[in-house]
Amino acid sequence: MRPAARILETRQVASFQCLSAECEDTCCDGWALPVDQQTYEKYRDCDDPAWRASFDKLVKIQPAPTPLDYARIHLNSTTCAFLSEGLCAIQNRFGEDYLPYACIAFPRIRNFVDDAMEVSLDLGCPEATRLVLLNPDPLQFLEKPADGRDYAMVRAGLIDTTQESTPGKPHRYFIPARAFVVRLLQNRALSISKRILILGLFCNKLQEMALRGEESQIPDIIQAYDEAIPAGSFDPILAQVGANLPLRIETIVELILTRITTEFTNKRFLESYREFMQGLSWGDGTSMDQLGENFLAAHTRYYQPFIASHGHIFENYLVNYANRGLYPLGPQASTYGLGEAQIQRSLHESFILMAAHFSIIETLLVGMAGFYKEAFAVDHIIRAVSTATRTFEHSTTSPDIVLKALSDKGLNSVGGAAVMVSV
Ligand code: SF4
Repeated sequence: MRPAARILETRQVASFQCLSAECEDTCCDGWALPVDQQTYEKYRDCDDPAWRASFDKLVKIQPAPTPLDYARIHLNSTTCAFLSEGLCAIQNRFGEDYLPYACIAFPRIRNFVDDAMEVSLDLGCPEATRLVLLNPDPLQFLEKPADGRDYAMVRAGLIDTTQESTPGKPHRYFIPARAFVVRLLQNRALSISKRILILGLFCNKLQEMALRGEESQIPDIIQAYDEAIPAGSFDPILAQVGANLPLRIETIVELILTRITTEFTNKRFLESYREFMQGLSWGDGTSMDQLGENFLAAHTRYYQPFIASHGHIFENYLVNYANRGLYPLGPQASTYGLGEAQIQRSLHESFILMAAHFSIIETLLVGMAGFYKEAFAVDHIIRAVSTATRTFEHSTTSPDIVLKALSDKGLNSVGGAAVMVSV
């Protein structure tokens, strides 16, 4: 990994503070808890006999240890064995220096792009979600000089724009491409669904050009998109695609059921799902057409009036998504396993996944708005976003399952994304 000469981070990263026992969630709930080698060695050499015995019993070396994932902490049911009344017993006894790197880092996500280390927040943490989503100003990276700290243990995605691009992945143009994506996602003259669909057209175009060996023309295409958007040139294409609420609801429910019946699921996500079902008056024998009508009514009466005055929430969600995942190209390499799937994913697949993750959250929220009616509020959005992020984005298997399900339903296109994000 190259040393970082600069650090790019958002204001929200700088102001983040863990709520610890005051938090409404537990960040180690349902996680595999990796312990890096340096921290494992501290546990092994601990001079408190009772604690050393606990570490021996509850922290086991992995079958194929790596420096970052050297050992794992035992889970009591679904939570860390060292969690006690909402507090970390290791931190209480020994301080932050004894925490595994993964625990110290969360919810900060680090990526390296050339000489810069970019730091974003993972929205699996409700406090990070509040900071990122509720800020009414456009989310942006601010630059500061390198802090001289050793980031060798960082779990990070890596991009080196001086390297040759791989087929379909024009990483040499990552910086202008991502800048365009952020500009588009922050274009408040467009609805959120229109921003997402134009993004889909852009990703497909970039992929096509890269596969045809035309990547040197990417700056011209970005300029053409910048000019075409205010001129409304995409309107005729977007007029040909649109909503199908019964299909959208059926697809989202299938994705949720597949996920919650196969892996551990955060109970606050299940609470949101129950509220969604009740908010749409979902009972035995309710037809998909009826659910589509109930969804539209909840959207019109409760969701849309609220979200119309909180447009920055989903804009910030999408920009944060783009920043933390090195969107739209994803990393070229990573220091940890989860990044491998992102490295392999095509531009088109990454777009479909972003649209699906947005749709899961928005669809849930419309049902929740139907449940809470006039009392629908920001707290419900924070719960839905943070728990859906944990449920779908922290899972190593879910992204591929989502992509396959959408492909099987013929929804893996910009037109399919229109079904998933339109009303
Ligand atoms: S979820 Fe966030 S605020 Fe809550 S304990 Fe974890 S890091 Fe702290």
